[in-house]
Amino acid sequence: MKMSKMFIQTLREYPSDAEVVSHKMLGRAGFIKKLAPGIYTFTPLMWRVLKKIENIVREEMDNAGAQELLMPFVQPKELWEESGRWEVYGRELMRLKDRHDRDMCLGPTHEEIITSVARDVLKSYKQLPVNLYQIQSKFRDEIRPRYGLLRGREFIMKDAYSFDIDEEGLDKEYQNMAKAYKKIFDRCGLDTKMVQSDSGAIGGSVSHEFMVITDTDAGENDVFYCNSCDYSANSNHAVSNLTEAIIDGKDYFKETKIIDTPNTHSIEELSRFLNIPETLILKTLVYIVDKKPVLALIRADKAVEETKLMNAAGGIDIRIASSAEIAELMAEKGFDAVPGFIGPKGMKDVKIIADETVRDMKNFVVGINQTDKHMVGANLSDLEIDNIDYADIRLVQQGELCPQCGKPLFVTKGIEVGNIFKLGTKYSKPMNAVYTDVNGKTHPYIMGCYGIGISRTAAAAVEAHYDEHGIKWPIAIAPYHVVIVPVNINDELQMKTAEKMYEDLKSAGVEVVLDDRDERAGVKFKDADLIGFPFRVTVGKTISEGFVEYKIRETGEQKKYTPDEATQKLINIIKAVK
Ligand code: ATP
Ligand code: MG
Repeated sequence: MKMSKMFIQTLREYPSDAEVVSHKMLGRAGFIKKLAPGIYTFTPLMWRVLKKIENIVREEMDNAGAQELLMPFVQPKELWEESGRWEVYGRELMRLKDRHDRDMCLGPTHEEIITSVARDVLKSYKQLPVNLYQIQSKFRDEIRPRYGLLRGREFIMKDAYSFDIDEEGLDKEYQNMAKAYKKIFDRCGLDTKMVQSDSGAIGGSVSHEFMVITDTDAGENDVFYCNSCDYSANSNHAVSNLTEAIIDGKDYFKETKIIDTPNTHSIEELSRFLNIPETLILKTLVYIVDKKPVLALIRADKAVEETKLMNAAGGIDIRIASSAEIAELMAEKGFDAVPGFIGPKGMKDVKIIADETVRDMKNFVVGINQTDKHMVGANLSDLEIDNIDYADIRLVQQGELCPQCGKPLFVTKGIEVGNIFKLGTKYSKPMNAVYTDVNGKTHPYIMGCYGIGISRTAAAAVEAHYDEHGIKWPIAIAPYHVVIVPVNINDELQMKTAEKMYEDLKSAGVEVVLDDRDERAGVKFKDADLIGFPFRVTVGKTISEGFVEYKIRETGEQKKYTPDEATQKLINIIKAVK
């Protein structure tokens, strides 16, 4: 491709709304054009990257025995009613009506559709197992589309669904997919960690996420991991053993009583006022889960993990209550305490979930729904509550101990590029998607689902490979492998050499761009670095001595070669990657 003919526009500035590296770089280098929040045009350069990732995914999925199909993007409500998700899927599901006033939605994921397709075809155990996948645009009306391609509203996903006759079959396919995913991300030049995770709105029991570990803001997930064993988990699923000794409040409080604690709105203020450790305070937080208030109780030195709490409450949507909602709850129960003094006492008919840390607390301090007062030396029996459920709703903190081996855990940030779920019969049962066994009896399929964010993977690759000058694409997914830059296009020898190399490389299957623009060399070098070609060949003055300059983008390493040597070297490198 000649640069002068390429549909490309590099910019001086980063997009004004870009907060993270990949959004900045992809925008400035002209890979993406924003149409609306979270909705982008992929320019030819970007499309080449995405097609390469797609092809790697395709090859590895095919190698793993999966079969590609393509399902409709617009889906009828009826199937979503069969699975029960029309009601429960939040506003991320973009709903619309057709001209006949029928309810439809834009596909955010395809469990319902694939299950309906499978049940028509896969009638007998003899036809199983099967794994079907597609690569397609998805639409999710994300509450906070941001970070460019990392969290878009319209984005490209590979989604696969497996159908087995039993758990054993599912286990095998799950491992098979985990292996394929490792290969896919390795081939894309991405180092990933497979971590345990919450199963979220898709449901099911076991799931893992593939995380690109990053220290940039782009990592939306906290990943806890152990250096001494293989334990690693998303914070929404991580567990730990605690290190702190459990303190009995009897050393501080001789008796159980209600005392004045004026203006102690925070845990810090309360612990300072009473001169006690935070581990002696029982903290009460009010959340709204599926529109209903839920009280979360936890030892005050620890924080609540919202996804764990939501799961414990059996909900699919959670947020912290607003002060107006807290006031409303107080009024309803006949109290008028302000936040800081809320507690479980007298909270009849409200779901109360206590973290496991609460079990061991003795003679503690707790809010009792009276402003500027707390109960001290309290025990759960003093609070007259019988509607308490225990669960692990605690957010793990760095330094707490690994649940597998007892060594301290570390935390880092991760970008989720893919995930694998064991769905079991979550969809096949309600949708009556069954096969007949050897005795003629019917059973719902045992299903799994496996996603990869194609466009997110491209952005994650930028997050993992860049410097202040621009992108450093891994060779396997770079839009082109090489750019040849003649320093002066009016110099006949330079231009002739550049053109010969260009033709030689092209005919050997190397993807090469000739920067034939009548621009200063500095401008061309800047663009080459920004766009992120893995290799640059500069044909300048040294060509009169028979040399070109060969530069590796990843390392910055430069070498002098004859044009033929450079050509041969590049051909060999690219062959080895393919
Ligand atoms: P997240 O927790 O990041 O919202 P998810 O759990 O909703 O992801 P899935 O529904 O399992 O993700 O989708 C499969 C894959 O699709 C994810 O692993 C991710 O790579 C990608 N993906 C999900 N949402 C988006 C999005 N809004 N923009 C780009 N890619 C996405
Ligand atoms: Mg999501």
